[in-house]
Amino acid sequence: MNTSAPSDWLLYCRPGFERDCAEETGLQVIEAQPNSGFIIVRGKLRVPFAQLVFARQRIRLVSKAEALPERDRLTPLLAALPDAPTAFSDLWLEVPDTNEGKTLSGFTKRFQLLLEARLHETERLVNNSPAPRLHIFFPDKTRALIGISDLRDSAAWPMGILRLRMPVDAPSRSTLKLAEAFETLLSEEERKQWLRSGMTAVDLGAAPGGWTWQLVMHGLKVQAVDNGPMKGSMALHPMVQHLRQDGFRYQPRRPVDWVVCDMVEQPSRVAALMARWIASGMAQHTLFNLKLPMKKRLEALEQAFDDIRNQMESAHIRYRLAAKQLYHDREEVTVLLTKIKKR
Ligand code: SAM
Repeated sequence: MNTSAPSDWLLYCRPGFERDCAEETGLQVIEAQPNSGFIIVRGKLRVPFAQLVFARQRIRLVSKAEALPERDRLTPLLAALPDAPTAFSDLWLEVPDTNEGKTLSGFTKRFQLLLEARLHETERLVNNSPAPRLHIFFPDKTRALIGISDLRDSAAWPMGILRLRMPVDAPSRSTLKLAEAFETLLSEEERKQWLRSGMTAVDLGAAPGGWTWQLVMHGLKVQAVDNGPMKGSMALHPMVQHLRQDGFRYQPRRPVDWVVCDMVEQPSRVAALMARWIASGMAQHTLFNLKLPMKKRLEALEQAFDDIRNQMESAHIRYRLAAKQLYHDREEVTVLLTKIKKR
């Protein structure tokens, strides 16, 4: 897909974060209604999907259909489909992640079957191919925005939402955040290599134990640091050592593979702490949440990332820094900082 040509881009985001999502692209804003869950920007979007913190999906708009009649929406939609590319690997009918959007999902499910059948007939839908994905996004019942996404530069799940089932014996819903972070911020190979039985982790701000639960399920031994109580299966688990200590002062006796942190604190404090763990060699990888302020969120994030980069550079460490506002995040983003090993 040619990403260097100026285009209109459709990005999905958590409702309430439209301004942050638009600001991050640095492009001209065409549409960014508060709490709508999506934005449209115009220009050359050079930032790849993985580097956009607030975008859940990145779609290049190619066409649209407006004033769709209630009786027959299929004819004008088929007419609005682009001639190129000639084939798509998938067809996703999507709606905003809002209450209004949910009321449209019954309609999109029915419509999906009709459209898919038509695209198969004309051999434009070739499943399991590397061709781009076709997205038809309905901001409401009368309007459809039609776009394409590159499989290597987009989220791999409809609406950019990774839906996960709450594990029955995990002590808190926060467990889903870490599960989503592993899926989103690590590659399959990294998950295999970095989350193995026998590895070790420190969980700062661990109680009641949702993140610890994820680590234990991957076979890691966990030092769970929190003054609060660990609950359920994590209260007395043989792989978990609960330490009632201050997460900002705690240091393990030996370096660990992972340190994760979900303490509710100022983003700059948490970022500096995590960078210290990596710079000092106390941990190899870290995943942590940065709670966003009400205002100037992007500025606060940039500041935190600059502090991390400065610490890494002064310690002469090669690293990877990636951040996303995950579906299971609220007023926060999840950050991965990992040391790149010398070959
Ligand atoms: N990740 C946890 C889970 O999945 O169940 C939830 C963590 S909760 C959002 C934040 C936790 O951070 C609280 O249990 C709180 O006691 C702990 N906390 C806050 N400040 C802390 C500190 N300075 N040291 C240790 N724990 C702290």
